[in-house]
Amino acid sequence: MFGVATFSASFLGCKVSHADVQEVRERLLADGHVEADGAEVAVIGTCCVTREAVAKSRKAARRVAGSARRVYLTGCAASLPGALDGLPGNVETVALPSEQTPGFVAGRLGALACATADAGLDRVRAFVKVQDGCGFACSFCVIPAVRGGPRSRPVARVLAEIRRRAEQGHREVVLTGINLGCYRDREAGLDLPGLVRAAGAVPGLARLRLSSVEVNHVTPALLAALRETEPASPHLHVPLQSGDDGVLRAMRRRYTAASFLRRLERAEGFNLTTDVIVGFPGEDDAAFERTLAVIERAGVTRAHVFPYSPRPGTAAAALDPVAVAVKRERSSRLRAAVREARLRAWARKVGSDDTVLVDRPGRGYGDDYSPWLVEGRPVGALVAVRGRAVSEEGILAA
Ligand code: SF4
Repeated sequence: MFGVATFSASFLGCKVSHADVQEVRERLLADGHVEADGAEVAVIGTCCVTREAVAKSRKAARRVAGSARRVYLTGCAASLPGALDGLPGNVETVALPSEQTPGFVAGRLGALACATADAGLDRVRAFVKVQDGCGFACSFCVIPAVRGGPRSRPVARVLAEIRRRAEQGHREVVLTGINLGCYRDREAGLDLPGLVRAAGAVPGLARLRLSSVEVNHVTPALLAALRETEPASPHLHVPLQSGDDGVLRAMRRRYTAASFLRRLERAEGFNLTTDVIVGFPGEDDAAFERTLAVIERAGVTRAHVFPYSPRPGTAAAALDPVAVAVKRERSSRLRAAVREARLRAWARKVGSDDTVLVDRPGRGYGDDYSPWLVEGRPVGALVAVRGRAVSEEGILAA
């Protein structure tokens, strides 16, 4: 349709959205199209995890529709009926499974069949998608409806992509999925712990991390794989959502506050981060206090706090009784508690040694994904550091 097109590719939302857009981008580069500012074609990976995420996706589409000739909206919000209706005429919504999206967008632009460009990300970190979809039925979540059931990429393809990323110069790989712990390559007889071990053996990687894993998948086998695999980081992002058993039941999560804590006790020495939904229907003051207590007991150092917003088509869609002001107040209390815990955890690193992977000027992450401030080191370097002091931004290297 366009011959050689200039294009831009951007995304909203999570690491899966990032990985999906990266796949479209690589396909367009491989077809001979050219990435450029002010491009004639824009691809946007959208998000619908909250009402606000949909609003941001719509805003991004409107903004680029003013300058680009054609805009393709891919990803979660594109598959949520009605979410992206009413946008300008040059915006096309691609409501397809992620596996079919790169081919569809490439077909729209017209393949030139000349592989020319190096499609490496301009980043130290690469997100490698190993799994998509979810078969759970959490009552607040629209993701199974827009992404479908769970499926995994064969391990051979995952390892080939990791090798390619390492050769392109990425020092860190994050294994990414919607419900990562469901990873299975039945033919190869491999689950997530096996994948961690296989991925960690790829030469050239300095760091290997998991994007997010459900607490029921934090098994002794997974912890052992993370502990025993050289580049694997002792970091786990485990969504809590609520620390109240009644709210967890209403959310249709598959654990209690006590079993969440019990499983994470085994992860001693790991840096823990989480997601919490604040103001879910049924969350009264006492329930919120229980969430706060679990967050403090678990020693979480970062929390993505989402004020609850009902998503269309979910079991909890009709309900939203907690007032906005209450959600706001609880969110800021939760963030303040996590900030305190974070500063305490960082203070314990003062005087101790770590290895930092510098991922942008002046900053990087230590072995367990704690942020460090390092001056004068090139992006991509692995730097031996000793903690000197703590700031709001991270641990200051001596
Ligand atoms: S586990 Fe629950 S919250 Fe996570 S994607 Fe599946 S349904 Fe959504």
